[in-house]
Amino acid sequence: MQYHDVVVVGGGLAGLRAALEVNMHNLRVAILSKVYPIRSHSVAAQGGINAPLGNHPRGAHDSWERHAFDTVKGSDYLADQDAAVRMAKDAAERIIEMEHWGCPFSRTPNGKIAQRPFGGAGFPRTCFAADKTGHMLIHTLFEQIVKYEQAAERGELKIYNEWLVTSLVIEGGVCRGVIALELATGKLEAFKADAVLFATGGCGRLYTNSTNAMINTGMGMAVPFWAGIPLKDMEFIQFHPTTLYGSNILMTEGCRGEGGYLTNKRNERFLANYPDSRKGMEVAPRDIVSRNITTEILEGRAFENAYVNLDLRHLGEERIAARLPAIREICRKFLGIDPVHEPIPVQPGQHYTMGGIDVNSDGASPAKGFYAAGEASCVSVHGANRLGGNSLLETIVFGKIAGEHMSNYVFGKTDLGAGDKTLEDALAQEEKKLKALMNSDGGENPSNLKEEMQRMMTDKVGIFRTKESLSDAQRKIRELRDRYKKVRLRYTGGPYNYDLASTIELKGSIDVAETVIVGALAREESRGSQFRRDFPARNDEKFLQHTLAYFTPEGPRLDYKDVTLGYWEPKERKY
Ligand SMILES: Cc1cc2nc3c(=O)[nH]c(=O)nc-3n(C[C@H](O)[C@H](O)[C@H](O)COP(=O)(O)OP(=O)(O)OC[C@H]3O[C@@H](n4cnc5c(N)ncnc54)[C@H](O)[C@@H]3O)c2cc1C
Repeated sequence: MQYHDVVVVGGGLAGLRAALEVNMHNLRVAILSKVYPIRSHSVAAQGGINAPLGNHPRGAHDSWERHAFDTVKGSDYLADQDAAVRMAKDAAERIIEMEHWGCPFSRTPNGKIAQRPFGGAGFPRTCFAADKTGHMLIHTLFEQIVKYEQAAERGELKIYNEWLVTSLVIEGGVCRGVIALELATGKLEAFKADAVLFATGGCGRLYTNSTNAMINTGMGMAVPFWAGIPLKDMEFIQFHPTTLYGSNILMTEGCRGEGGYLTNKRNERFLANYPDSRKGMEVAPRDIVSRNITTEILEGRAFENAYVNLDLRHLGEERIAARLPAIREICRKFLGIDPVHEPIPVQPGQHYTMGGIDVNSDGASPAKGFYAAGEASCVSVHGANRLGGNSLLETIVFGKIAGEHMSNYVFGKTDLGAGDKTLEDALAQEEKKLKALMNSDGGENPSNLKEEMQRMMTDKVGIFRTKESLSDAQRKIRELRDRYKKVRLRYTGGPYNYDLASTIELKGSIDVAETVIVGALAREESRGSQFRRDFPARNDEKFLQHTLAYFTPEGPRLDYKDVTLGYWEPKERKY
């Protein structure tokens, strides 16, 4: 068994920021990550990170109040307002901290951090590093982690690279640690800790058409769910309006923030034809733009009935090279086109998980000593629809806050021997399950199940939903859950057995997908990213509430809890 004061699962921005904070409090922290930290999905973030710095010529009157209000309005009033306020208040300090640690942000002519307009924001408040913001942020933070790791005399900061956490151990409402699989050897190990934080990212790969990395399977949400921690607001899945036709690689909102146009096959800037995007046009919020593009596709005004154009040509080569170099590179490499001379074919695709592990604005879950941060968590600051640039911010703001809170919780704890027996039992149980999976002689191929799940989620639990489509999805996911019991591995070796790892993760994906479907079916209203054709209006009387999904072997049990208001009264969301 390994011992640390705190275990952080996930080496993305949220996990690294939390671990750094714990180490600054002089506690022993371990980071367990199934991929090397800088290969986490955070590295792919393109467009930017929000903070009301007021550095743009049109941003002088920006403030944390305006940032928080835009966030709450964007969330279709489902965000907890105290959490949105906390994030907006801390935003500037976290950005300046990253700047001081060396993050190479793009600059204004007078040397300040540059900011660009993003969807649903009243001011241009998105700070960026060209279109490689995530890359720059995670490398900056990783440098700090390496510095602390090297300064640690007795392993106070240790990184376990390529370990897949498969189980969370909670005893009588108190977190004791985790069980993890070492991918290099195929062996399981117990990790004891007084506090555990999950920063395991989103679950985009429940869907076929997704901008997310293949590693975003949702397993990190499934593990606490299985241990009794509820998942919150899982029905709210963000679809990004502009993903590359065919591969669904993201074409950042920065393209539209810099002035890019969306046009249909009649060469119209069609967003002007919809009341909800007439004013904001290309920088209207993501849920609205995604729905309006999909309507163009469904009503026959898209190219090949599948995509619209994102036109950057009028921006000119110099601006594209300075502000959107990765977009140009991706278009050249993946489609053989140059956006300086040709428009980019785009369609909406799954992009972000607004829901996640139920935590409060300290990052604390209902179980003592168990925390979550980043996209895996639901604080909730994004409610029913996240504004672009707010999730990178969430990772570093709430990563730090959770790290601080955990440290205070752990500091001075005296029950040193507690939990050992429970962890040993949990390890033995996990070993038994692993052996059974390795020896299974069932007839189901796990990759077929995965493909069927992803296709079904895209077709039935997408941008437009109905009772019928969601009921079909529920039937299908239950069938997949049953068929999973008969999966058979093709490879049964120990070291780097990705057949094994992905099959373990598939179980998590199926259970998490079911929470999305069941939550969406029960929420008979349209709010933010959830659009029910059979219930097109928002219903505050019944559904101004968070959905909580609890694990049961028969499928998720739902409950609800109130949204924290107190700053702004909910009203119709108009742009
Ligand atoms: C293409 C793209 C572009 C984006 N651009 C922007 C943007 O410009 N601005 C913005 O605000 N947001 C953006 N987002 C969203 C944002 O990037 C993410 O929400 C954020 O980076 C998530 O960070 P994280 O630390 O929560 O998780 P991640 O960076 O996804 O890290 C998750 C970590 O958990 C580990 N892990 C997962 N499961 C396990 C397990 N079971 N055991 C061990 N380790 C595990 C992984 O190895 C990884 O290290 C973008 C998203 C996408 C898909």
